[in-house]
Amino acid sequence: EAAPDQALPRSPPVMPPFEHRPTPYAGMGGDEILEKRKKFLGPSLFYYYQKPLNIVEGKMQYLYDEQGKRYLDCFGGIVTVSCGHCHPDIVDAVLEQTKLLQHTTTIYLHHAIVEFAEALASKMPGNLKVVYFVNSGTEANELAMLMARLYSGNLSMVALRNGYHGGSAGTIGLTGLQTWKYPIPQGEIHHVMNPDPYRGVFGSDGAAYAKEVEEHINYGSSGRVGGFIAETFQGVGGAVELAPGYLKSVYDTVRKAGGVCIADEVQSGFGRTGSNYWGFQTQDVIPDIVTMAKGIGNGLPLGAVVTTPEIASVMSQKIQFNTFGGNPVCSAGGLAVLKVLDKEKRQAHCADVGAHLVERLKSLQQKHEIIGDVRGRGLMLGVELVTDRTEKTPAKAETALLFEKLKDLGVLVGKGGLHGNVFRIKPPMCFSKDDADFLVDAMDYAMSGL
Ligand code: PLP
Repeated sequence: EAAPDQALPRSPPVMPPFEHRPTPYAGMGGDEILEKRKKFLGPSLFYYYQKPLNIVEGKMQYLYDEQGKRYLDCFGGIVTVSCGHCHPDIVDAVLEQTKLLQHTTTIYLHHAIVEFAEALASKMPGNLKVVYFVNSGTEANELAMLMARLYSGNLSMVALRNGYHGGSAGTIGLTGLQTWKYPIPQGEIHHVMNPDPYRGVFGSDGAAYAKEVEEHINYGSSGRVGGFIAETFQGVGGAVELAPGYLKSVYDTVRKAGGVCIADEVQSGFGRTGSNYWGFQTQDVIPDIVTMAKGIGNGLPLGAVVTTPEIASVMSQKIQFNTFGGNPVCSAGGLAVLKVLDKEKRQAHCADVGAHLVERLKSLQQKHEIIGDVRGRGLMLGVELVTDRTEKTPAKAETALLFEKLKDLGVLVGKGGLHGNVFRIKPPMCFSKDDADFLVDAMDYAMSGL
């Protein structure tokens, strides 16, 4: 007879209790929405599930579909819902501001934008004190690239293979994943090896990957670069934590070559990794420019670039302006997010729940051959599925199947990596240990039926 932990789970796990009654939904049905989406929203939409979900309500770590079925949201609207769906403090702050003044641009004074900028700057180390508000992560990276090029006087950028930095005409060049790259001129951008401890040729040897950046600068460039950009924990590329020591060494090299170091914290900031407030702190570096979005607004369209006064000074040559960046409503919401994260001690919570979840996922790995790798920190985790642990062959079809099964069990996870074989687990930060147990039990149950 199999040992208890080897036994197949016999019945589906039961979702932890949660006191919330979803509002009865009387809107358009999923089939009708899908028809209209196809008709009016362009051909290139992609859907996560075979039959797309019609999500009509969210409450903290849960989502509800049109039938009132509850789902544990382990992906937080692509790592965007940081505090929880419709967190009451954030809803209140947004409503209060909306009633007073919905919009004014930065050509006038308004208190919300400066309060938010000051609070955000207080979360940054070193001399990172000047904040520019934008509307998305893509826009933040566009602006960061502009700043780096102006400040260094050099157009050439270095980015990581497997990185994702946006899909606009400029940032598409920085993104290092073919799935997202439309064939347009990509600018003067060179992609270096990804310091991926699981798949990279140098394993966890951060210094070896960093050497390649130095070699690129010495042999593949004029010896000078404009800037270097990296996510400090890759998201879209499949929840990859960069090999230790990598950024420290690369930042030194890039700065010696006249370049500016940009940390893309669009996914990894705001305490999600548990160990640090910002992902880059895990690599013991202070960037010259930090870009952020997603979790900054708990779902509000908001992004920011934070840099030093010295770098910011180059932006006074011409006007730098956008209509909505730092609008009062988003600023009030963003400020409320920072307050909630502190008040509810979410960073420590992510460390605690994340450690528990990793432990449970690692024991699941011992039970299911298909789990090739469990990685990450805090609530920024990845589970990579392979059909062969030695060859690390991506388990594409199995991942797609499990993904559907998990949805049926009431669990929504993210998918990532070039082959779509990585489960990305990045829930709202209110996710509890009971939720973690339910997620692992659901994965166990789904995998046992493969
Ligand atoms: N940078 C990273 C690391 C991202 O994950 C994303 C989006 O997924 C972006 C930039 C682009 O952000 P947005 O979709 O808000 O433009």
